[in-house]
Amino acid sequence: MTLSFTCDIRPTRVVFGIGSIERLGHELDRLGLSRLLLISTPGRRDLVEYVAQLLGGRVAGMFARAEEHVPLAVAEDARAYTGRIGALGCLAVGGGSAIGLAKAVALSSGCPIVAVPTTYSGSEMTPLWGITSGKEKQTGRDARVQPRCVVYDPALTTGLPPAISGASAMNAVAHCVEALYAPDSNPLTSLMAEEGIRALGASVPFIVRKPGDLGQRSGALYGAWLAGMALGSVSMGLHHRICHVLGGSFGLPHAQTHAVVLPHVARYNERAASAALQRVAVALGAEDAPGALFDLCRAAGAPRALEELGLRERDLDDAAALSSRGDQPNPRPVTRDGVREILEHAYRGHQPVVVESSIN
Ligand code: NAD
Repeated sequence: MTLSFTCDIRPTRVVFGIGSIERLGHELDRLGLSRLLLISTPGRRDLVEYVAQLLGGRVAGMFARAEEHVPLAVAEDARAYTGRIGALGCLAVGGGSAIGLAKAVALSSGCPIVAVPTTYSGSEMTPLWGITSGKEKQTGRDARVQPRCVVYDPALTTGLPPAISGASAMNAVAHCVEALYAPDSNPLTSLMAEEGIRALGASVPFIVRKPGDLGQRSGALYGAWLAGMALGSVSMGLHHRICHVLGGSFGLPHAQTHAVVLPHVARYNERAASAALQRVAVALGAEDAPGALFDLCRAAGAPRALEELGLRERDLDDAAALSSRGDQPNPRPVTRDGVREILEHAYRGHQPVVVESSIN
């Protein structure tokens, strides 16, 4: 066997297990972190108060206004508040929105981040940040935003509503699928991605039907951890680009958009990335990866059509043009017509069919 690869996986300390939130104070002490800004989305009051009470005097202030795609105005308010209270670190408790806002603060202040994820976004394991100004979402990669420590406690996820659980798990599956065909993938990222799909695929039907099942919640969070590691270590392709455009420029919800688009991009890339998609199929115990991803979205109770998510038909052309701009690390060359066809199928919620435009 001849192998040739570069492997660049960034270290983040991970504490995983039911009840591990009890160890958060110890982990903060280990890092020498105090005077924390606790960041969350609105409406997570019970969870945030519980965590703040566990941490006693280590919390200097709370900012509960995180939103999807990190609007610049919210990031600026959080940065100003960080300065006013003299925070020396950020503690993000919640999903990708809370973690994304902590990253925006870390980017300008250098404050270290500790994350307690309660969705399956995987953001806690990546050096990737995003901030949206107007209709443009700017993204980047910066070591300062990679959390120092992540505490995964499946018990904190049982209250995640089924509709969000399923879509969020599909977001994690999407990270794994694109990691498997990324040009800079390596044997370790591929192992993580394949195992991530297996774990998420096995748990998805249960976390939406029996949200309180801690064993299944553990399996999904384990898959999300692997997905986040893969996402943070390799380049993402056309799928992530389309979702980024639909979220940043058209205001579509992040996880649900991933769930709708994924089977269609998998079909588009099928011939150009046949070995990777074969691994996806094996991980899902199926023969046809795009079809199995479509079925998993249904089992996840996720929306099927971009139309359901509020995209207007007249936006499809612009979305295709924006999504196909520039060079992209995608196995099949990206054309505007090809993306337009993907979006058409995703808009209507069709089964993923072969995209004929400019087959290469
Ligand atoms: P989210 O963080 O917006 O959470 C979705 C909803 O679930 C929110 O209303 C939140 O309050 C609620 N929620 C979260 N945890 C809960 C719990 N335990 N119980 C009940 N409700 C709960 O959604 P998300 O999909 O996790 O994050 C989306 C954001 O993350 C987007 O902005 C996306 O761009 C970003 N993201 C970034 C990366 C990265 O690597 N930088 C990766 C994935 C996603």
